[in-house]
Amino acid sequence: MRKYIESRRYLVSFDTSSAPHIFTDVLVIGSGVAGLRAAIAAANYGEVLVVTKDTAREGSTGHAQGGIAAASDSQDVESHIQDTLEVGCGLCNEDAVRTIISEGPSSVQELIDWGAKFDSEDGKPHLTREGGHSRSRILHAGGDATGAEVEAALLTEAQVHRRIHILENFFVVDILNENGVCHGAIVYNASKGLMMVWSRQTILATGGTGRLFRETTNPGVITGDGIAMAYRAGAALTDLEFIQFHPTTLYIAGASRALISEAVRGEGGLLKNREGKRFMDDYHPDAELAPRDVVSRSILQEMQRTGDTNVYLDLTHLGREHIYERFPFIRSLCAEFDIDIAEDMIPVRPSAHYSVGGVKIDLGGATGIEGLYACGEVACTGFHGANRLGSNSLLEGLVMGRRAGEAAGKMLHKLSARLGPYTMVNREQKIHHSPIDVADVEISLRSLMWRNAGIERNEEALAAADQRADFWCSYIMEREFHKPAGWQLQNMLTLAKLIIYFSRQRTESRGCHYRTDYPGRDDTNWNRHTNLVRDNVEVQGV
Ligand SMILES: Cc1cc2nc3c(=O)[nH]c(=O)nc-3n(C[C@H](O)[C@H](O)[C@H](O)COP(=O)(O)OP(=O)(O)OC[C@H]3O[C@@H](n4cnc5c(N)ncnc54)[C@H](O)[C@@H]3O)c2cc1C
Repeated sequence: MRKYIESRRYLVSFDTSSAPHIFTDVLVIGSGVAGLRAAIAAANYGEVLVVTKDTAREGSTGHAQGGIAAASDSQDVESHIQDTLEVGCGLCNEDAVRTIISEGPSSVQELIDWGAKFDSEDGKPHLTREGGHSRSRILHAGGDATGAEVEAALLTEAQVHRRIHILENFFVVDILNENGVCHGAIVYNASKGLMMVWSRQTILATGGTGRLFRETTNPGVITGDGIAMAYRAGAALTDLEFIQFHPTTLYIAGASRALISEAVRGEGGLLKNREGKRFMDDYHPDAELAPRDVVSRSILQEMQRTGDTNVYLDLTHLGREHIYERFPFIRSLCAEFDIDIAEDMIPVRPSAHYSVGGVKIDLGGATGIEGLYACGEVACTGFHGANRLGSNSLLEGLVMGRRAGEAAGKMLHKLSARLGPYTMVNREQKIHHSPIDVADVEISLRSLMWRNAGIERNEEALAAADQRADFWCSYIMEREFHKPAGWQLQNMLTLAKLIIYFSRQRTESRGCHYRTDYPGRDDTNWNRHTNLVRDNVEVQGV
């Protein structure tokens, strides 16, 4: 069934004897919260190279608005753990939950020590509350610009570190591995072409898969490359069916699907339909503060019921001064479309937001391939279970970034962590084709995933999507592209096939995976994770 995506081990042909080389102790792929935190930790042990496919600031981290959840005091640790377990619907790895939440406050303190400034009131951090949290424990910065503050603090710390080097506009095509050991990656830069980065340890921190869906809050760089390349290399994947859809993104034709932070509902924002009637009370006792998947599906149902393309978020009762001060980004964004958030309701609808599953890792970030680690949204520790509690992902990125960086650094002295092997050859079959309109296929794929594998799924729609994806794969996966747009499309097709495969497996509804043909939770058969490793990985391709 996955024949088209299994037919490739590497997306490019290469002969390492004729390609330029770069050498480093630790290679970090991605410059968001997880990658930068990992780089800072690994730099205690050796030279670190961070490569990132756009500018260093581009990624989900810089776009995060609401904040970082961190237990407000020692008594809050246990209730933060319980809230996370509750939202995870029985699938959280409790070890991961306890570890990440317990290490959260010290990780946030490190950020503050490195210059991050969180909003405060009377000299104390101002904490807000989001859906699923039983207490106010979310730190935020610049009102609703938390991610930018986190990214800036980490980037400054990494840039001034003498052992960390950052290469922007370097696209990682594939991970190099041989005999179960990772040796680095194949990297492309527009002016330098393909290069081999040989590293003793490699850390994947490429973020999630949001751009696979037509409606998404994620920036353009988040195309699931890391999960696809880890799959090609033979790493285990887990829980890919769990994609969280954010209930409220700005919905104006032609405008980007900017997220309207959950903190807006936390501060009292109300969801209304086009008749101006509040409707969340009809769907869940926690109304606007119900878990995200419940709010997303309720909005979808309300849109179907009223025949409207969106619903509305109403802040007008909260006071002009307060909302202007608390949500400056949303205020200015809406103002561009002549919407004054103190007077007008904001048109919103759900969109793909967060990838709960990913490359399977342990609490040291290890993937099972020697020398290859992963952290942040590309990875899955089981921390979020079947759903993500709001503001827990920056926290996970910080804690797991540090843990993966430490673990990779400590392994530098192992014998198998030597550099090399320097000579690897991959000759893919060269077939000449007529040109392909990559952007056209990408748009069609994103629409297909939104319609057939989005907020609500069922066997019929998933099977149809699988068939359509197979057709595109049949003439795209065997090609050899020479630019990132083509490799990205191959990664997106790989991910589409995988997400569909995982979604068809789980014949129940749980957390953010909702099947209209299996609307109930089935603890007898499905109180477990879904896992997949590519077949015959070592013998294919090379
Ligand atoms: C709009 C928005 C708002 C959010 N709000 C919050 C919030 O308030 N609180 C919260 O906890 N979470 C929030 N999240 C989620 C959170 O921001 C992400 O889960 C987190 O930032 C992911 O961090 P990361 O380091 O794993 O990945 P990212 O920050 O996405 O970074 C991935 C990096 O990998 C690079 N990369 C990808 N592919 C390649 C490749 N092939 N080669 C080289 N480099 C590559 C990218 O360029 C980027 O640098 C939000 C997300 C979005 C999109």
